Amino acid sequence: MVELHDEGHRMECEAENDSEVLFACPTCGRRVVVGKREPKFVVLDRGDFSARHTGSLGGVEMSSVVV
Ligand SMILES: [Zn+2]
Repeated sequence: MVELHDEGHRMECEAENDSEVLFACPTCGRRVVVGKREPKFVVLDRGDFSARHTGSLGGVEMSSVVV
């Protein structure tokens, strides 16, 4: 069973350092770490797995990073 979310979830930058950014979804609690300098994507909390997640950092969309 797949539930579609037209709006999707908007992830917010919760913390960052020189090489990584921690994004968190206030809607479902999903948390991911995304690498800045090298391709990296680590899921800390899965949250709503069926939702489409997007996020931004400094105006740069990371919508392509969806797993
Ligand atoms: Zn979410």
